[in-house]
Amino acid sequence: MKLYSTNNKNLRVSFEDAVFNSLPQDKGLYMPVDIPQLDPLFIRNIQQYSLQEIAFTIAHTLIGEDIPKDALKSIIEDSINFDAPIKFLDPTLGVLELFHGPSYAFKDFGARFMSRVMAYFAKEDDQLLDVLVATSGDTGGAVALGFLGVEGTRVTILYPKGKVSKVQEEQLTTNGNNIRALEVEGTFDDCQALVKEAFNDKDLNTHLRLTSANSINIARLIPQTFYYFWAYAQLKSQGINEVVYTVPSGNFGNIGAGLLAYKLGLPVKHFVAATNSNDTVPRFLQTGVYEPKPSVQTLANAMDVGNPSNWVRILDLFSNELNDLRNVVSSYTYNDKQTKEAMRLLYDKYKYIACPHTAIAYLAAEAYKQDCPGEYASIFLSTAHPCKFPEGIEKDIFENIVYPKGADVLANKQKLATPLAVSYEDFKQYLLETK
Ligand SMILES: *Cc1c(COP(=O)(O)O)cnc(C)c1O
Repeated sequence: MKLYSTNNKNLRVSFEDAVFNSLPQDKGLYMPVDIPQLDPLFIRNIQQYSLQEIAFTIAHTLIGEDIPKDALKSIIEDSINFDAPIKFLDPTLGVLELFHGPSYAFKDFGARFMSRVMAYFAKEDDQLLDVLVATSGDTGGAVALGFLGVEGTRVTILYPKGKVSKVQEEQLTTNGNNIRALEVEGTFDDCQALVKEAFNDKDLNTHLRLTSANSINIARLIPQTFYYFWAYAQLKSQGINEVVYTVPSGNFGNIGAGLLAYKLGLPVKHFVAATNSNDTVPRFLQTGVYEPKPSVQTLANAMDVGNPSNWVRILDLFSNELNDLRNVVSSYTYNDKQTKEAMRLLYDKYKYIACPHTAIAYLAAEAYKQDCPGEYASIFLSTAHPCKFPEGIEKDIFENIVYPKGADVLANKQKLATPLAVSYEDFKQYLLETK
């Protein structure tokens, strides 16, 4: 697999380099030079395959010989080891639940696959791979649990004190082993600034082999294509061939992977990007003017992004042709009041408890159906289990949540977090001391 930068089509880097660098120096994003078409026979018979078999075919098609087949197979068996079922609310309306992994959010797909790909490439090197990650909640848990016990790696997570939910904090801080949590007396932006400074610190980089678990890493994008195919396989086994996917979107990595799946040959009728009040993309699709704004806080806080970092990838997939893009992608935006009403409606009408992000996707799915009715299955993606978002869900609904298996075990584990002031010197010392 060779990759170029969205800012330089002539650049060529290997998959391994793209994985360890995350970002090209020119601040573009890595994209595959070739997006091969999957064998139409594979698509036609896709309902015969398991999620892992599908994942292997797609990953091998994209990555090629950079990871030998046997190694790729074990990476997938080890990382994609939980289901992504569609729950039907109506015969043509379904929720694709992506939260059955260890951190109860879809980011498990990306983080688990990436951790094992990094470990595979780092194997030859005897220096420990030090992964640094700043999180506002969901990313950290997925990365921590993704790297937990992965040999040759050590993860340091920085999270803002008092600003993540209970379940999120438990997932960040109860692991031990090769995972360390730093509870920062500051905001998410402070955490991110500390991590950034560490990467730019030449002295530190001579002592440690640092890498980031950044959400724009190509090794996180690839595994997110798997579940779009897997959902299609589930639909086909029910005799359904037409699908519209609605994706709750913040940084647009999830829907970006869906569009990559589409370019690989997955037959999808349309994609709908659902956003909260951070409406940069819906405004762009309407006006053709891309005008990012500072993010505003909402109930669906994992989507509070004013300038979605994966958007350039999506433009690149469509060669910056706005009309081609509009033929495949629509977008709708909802405020907190509407989000709350949607959670209430889903509960009253279907007894379904959705997290705020998922509820926004439901609204957008219904809006698209109104605007473009037809004989297709409308599938909206559920990005997280509702138990992760107690602030966003009204109490009488939240009380009825059935926690995933293992959540109680987590709650009884000891919290292991080291307090850290917003001080780069302290952070650097911590990293060097515990070498
Ligand atoms: C990260 C996240 C999103 C946003 O996904 P993007 O790929 O950034 O668009 C949506 N919902 C939840 C629960 C998330 O954790």
